[in-house]
Amino acid sequence: MTTTCQRRNTRQRQVVLEELMAECSHPTAGELYRRVRERLPRISLGTVYRNLEILQESGQAVRLAGCSGQEARYDGRPEPHLHFHCAGCENITDLETVFPLMDDLLGSTLENHEIDGYHVILRGTCRNCRSGA
Ligand SMILES: [Zn+2]
Ligand SMILES: [Zn+2]
Repeated sequence: MTTTCQRRNTRQRQVVLEELMAECSHPTAGELYRRVRERLPRISLGTVYRNLEILQESGQAVRLAGCSGQEARYDGRPEPHLHFHCAGCENITDLETVFPLMDDLLGSTLENHEIDGYHVILRGTCRNCRSGA
C-alpha cells in the first residue's frame, strides 16, 4: 500500500537525486537545496538532508569527506572515481583518468581489509585557475 505521503517522499527523493546528478559540481547540501527548491518550492533544508542520508544508504549518492574546514559536498555518481579539488576556486571536478592500481584493489584485500570502493581527492590548481580564467 502506498500512501500519498510515501509518494511525495519518493518524488522529493527523485528530484534531489536528479539535481545532484544534473551537474558534476559536487554541491553542498545548501547549494543542492537552492536548486531543488526551484522545482519543489515547499521542500525544507531538513528534508534535503534526510533524502541525502537515504540516498547514501542506498548507495546512490556519496558524501565527500576530506575537504577540511568546509561544508560536506555530495556526489550523485556512486561508482569509484577520482576527484580533483582546486585550492583556488574550491571546485571539485571528476577526473576520468583511471589508475589501474586503484581499480585492481576493488574486491581484493589490503592488509587483510576488504576493499569495495575508494574516495580519493587530489588537490592542487585546476586548469581554469592555471590559465587565469
Ligand atoms: Zn580552480
Ligand atoms: Zn564525483
